[in-house]
Amino acid sequence: MTGLSLKRTLPLLGVALMFLLLLMPLSALAGEVEIRLSEAIGLSKSDNLGKVVLDPGRGYMTMTIATQTGPLSLVDVDGRTVEVRHGAEVRTNIGNMSIAELEQVGFVLPADFDVRATEEDANGFGSILFLLLPLMLILGLFFFLMRAGRGSAGQSQASNFAKSKARLATPDMPRVSFTDVAGAEEAKEDLEEVVQFLKDRRRFQAMGAIVPKGVLLTGPPGTGKTLLARAVAGEAGVPFFSISGSEFVEMFVGVGAARVRDLFEQAKKQTPCIVFMDEIDAVGRQRTGGMPGGHEEREQTLNQILTEMDGFEANLGVIVLAATNRPDILDPALMRPGRFDRRVALDPPDTNGRKAILQVHSRNKPLGPDVELEYLAKETHGFTGADLANLMNEAAILAVRRKKMTIDMKELEESVDRVIAGPERKSLKVNPMDRETTAYHEAGHALVAHLLPQADPVLKISIVARGSMGGYTRLLTEDRYFMTYSKLRDTLATLV
Ligand code: ADP
Repeated sequence: MTGLSLKRTLPLLGVALMFLLLLMPLSALAGEVEIRLSEAIGLSKSDNLGKVVLDPGRGYMTMTIATQTGPLSLVDVDGRTVEVRHGAEVRTNIGNMSIAELEQVGFVLPADFDVRATEEDANGFGSILFLLLPLMLILGLFFFLMRAGRGSAGQSQASNFAKSKARLATPDMPRVSFTDVAGAEEAKEDLEEVVQFLKDRRRFQAMGAIVPKGVLLTGPPGTGKTLLARAVAGEAGVPFFSISGSEFVEMFVGVGAARVRDLFEQAKKQTPCIVFMDEIDAVGRQRTGGMPGGHEEREQTLNQILTEMDGFEANLGVIVLAATNRPDILDPALMRPGRFDRRVALDPPDTNGRKAILQVHSRNKPLGPDVELEYLAKETHGFTGADLANLMNEAAILAVRRKKMTIDMKELEESVDRVIAGPERKSLKVNPMDRETTAYHEAGHALVAHLLPQADPVLKISIVARGSMGGYTRLLTEDRYFMTYSKLRDTLATLV
């Protein structure tokens, strides 16, 4: 017992020491103006920056204003307009972004820039080492505790390990808008209100209306859940943090929870914004009492998500969108009011939806005069948005390979086969006997389908080997939501 309490107090000492170290430089920053990253990017592009100092340790970047034309007007993090003069310093939160990532989001680094080590000290290297040595020892102990102890308080400070790996997309990045999401009209309508809220929170606040904090997007893979979440951020012009459920879960217990905490901390600094959690089922499964080991990490992570979602106020401006293709296995606690209390379902598109998606993905592709997207949409029953995007891309690649100027129906038809069954196996030497057998077999399916009154009409028969199939018969299936007994019987007969 005493051993344990010693282990508990030592880290606390470490925290106190670190706090003292950090306190001094932080207070030096107190008088500065803090602006959003998007504002900083705009500033960097306008050529009004003299010197930039990155402080990745503390997650800040300090910029010295260099303006020749009198004071500049900036909007700070609280939405106030402030005037800054030549020589003034402003700072912005950069989280754990590297120089390369900053440049990727559009920040233009001036010639005069510097990266500061956090523990920089005027007294020189010796004293730094003197201060750092016990710290390093304590950090080592932390790490050890993280492996051994469960749920110890200070573990999240241990290292970058606990940092969420969320990727940040700022409004300056190429935008996805609702026009890029085709055929999901109901889902878009449901999310329109979230967009309105992110754009203008005050209107909702004035009305006393509470907007859901969390929206759960459900649907099979490839139906555009991620795309839709991005489109909401794009429409509202707000930053977008995205992380996948599986990224929360690491080898060590407690890391996931710390990452959740860090993610929400980052998000709260950039309000209004969207936090997108993909594959939430990886952590949000129903909690079960029985199975020992392994589950603890997931459970802690889930608990932390629940706590964070309860912890911020509804109208703060952080909206959590989560995606899953298994809503049935989610923990009921996630669905409670005040958490993910709104569900938006995305189904595989119907014929009209498929046509619209094909249109979106053929926007920047030259199509031949014989292309009929309507027909293609009818042919591709059961395809998801991702399949259709893939279909268009495959056809474009085929057209390039064939040195054509446009994508014609021939390439599109062939791509449908490729998406369904894989590429043609040209190298496979099928002996004539096998080919004949395949022909008889496929003709059997086709004949039955053709002769039975309720079976779908035959569209195409092929005895070209693709993927693991020797051949196939494709039927023209319509969108249908009910099945009659006779229809089901004829369909079964065709398949068998
Ligand atoms: P999910 O997250 O549901 O698995 P994604 O959003 O990642 O699916 O979709 C993958 C890709 O499929 C998208 O990048 C997009 O190109 C395409 N896609 C899916 N649904 C649609 C849609 N409704 N409209 C246009 N493109 C779509």
